[in-house]
Amino acid sequence: MTPLTSLSREQLRDFFISTGEKPFRADQVLRWVYKKGVFDFQSMTDLSVELRIRLSETLSILELEPIQKVKASDSTKFLFKTCDGHVIETVLIKERDHLTLCVSTQIGCAVGCRFCATALDGLIRNLTAGEIIQQYLIAQGEAGERIRNVVFMGMGEPLANYDNVRKAVEIMVSPWGLDLSRRRVTVSTSGLIAPLRKMARDPLLRDINLAVSINSPFEEERSELMPLLKRGSLKELMKILKSFPLRPYRKITLEYVLISGINDSLSHAIALAKLLKGFEKRFKVNLIPYNPDPNLPFERPSLERIMVFQSQLWKRGISTFVRFSKGQETFGACGQLRAKRYVLKSQAV
Ligand code: SF4
Repeated sequence: MTPLTSLSREQLRDFFISTGEKPFRADQVLRWVYKKGVFDFQSMTDLSVELRIRLSETLSILELEPIQKVKASDSTKFLFKTCDGHVIETVLIKERDHLTLCVSTQIGCAVGCRFCATALDGLIRNLTAGEIIQQYLIAQGEAGERIRNVVFMGMGEPLANYDNVRKAVEIMVSPWGLDLSRRRVTVSTSGLIAPLRKMARDPLLRDINLAVSINSPFEEERSELMPLLKRGSLKELMKILKSFPLRPYRKITLEYVLISGINDSLSHAIALAKLLKGFEKRFKVNLIPYNPDPNLPFERPSLERIMVFQSQLWKRGISTFVRFSKGQETFGACGQLRAKRYVLKSQAV
């Protein structure tokens, strides 16, 4: 069956035309799914009974099966099973006055960051646009209120799944789709060079927020921490980011996971500031103290060390914020809930 949530309005109109129906049927169905949260064709009462039956035989709406939900004070983590039996995770984060959803874009990830639980599996496959959109639809249904912010920051490297992520963004920001503001959608990448160049030329993707993981200001160390990224890629990355088309008042977020004894020294802070010299206003830095994982040999730096790092950047004119990853009680960092579930399962066998 074709997943409806993988189709743009244009594609759905073509689908109806090809089955002898009027194209406006597409708008009726899209309204039910994205505006009213109805995921069952039988309940779409402005369609004929015969059409409802035909649609339920040819199109699917929700393919992901929620299998676990872990609630904490500041977040809810969902585990979903895909049609082919894999498990992905999505995190709903409660901010002061809104909800943010962190969606996954791949099953596993090929970037192989040493500090990341998702990397333990390698890449299994890309998620479809529909599987990305369904994470939103199910989480919103559970939340019972509108989710206004989306970050592509869960399992996987979004720009390695460019076409499906692009389609999902199109559905998210279109008035016929989820109708989110472009300013409230963020793609977070490890900094893949070729897709970033493509993104800079893409009128849709360059118009949403961009976050890039830096994690070390030193070429060699960065490619050791993030093995898929070749040496020399940091220099190339900074060149692209310094000329990336930005709307007025927008900034590029640089994500920096602070790991004790690895990348949290004074010399790292100074070198990072040097990397941004002359372009301080174009960037903001998010320092993310590492969220320890039982499967990985890394520790979080002390609060004092984190503050020293932050103050070095502020001193040099760079807006820098410390972001403790939300949902630590629910194994908050990327891929960690899923890894925990597998550990529990294998211990039980
Ligand atoms: S941190 Fe992100 S890019 Fe790195 S391995 Fe994990 S999912 Fe992939």
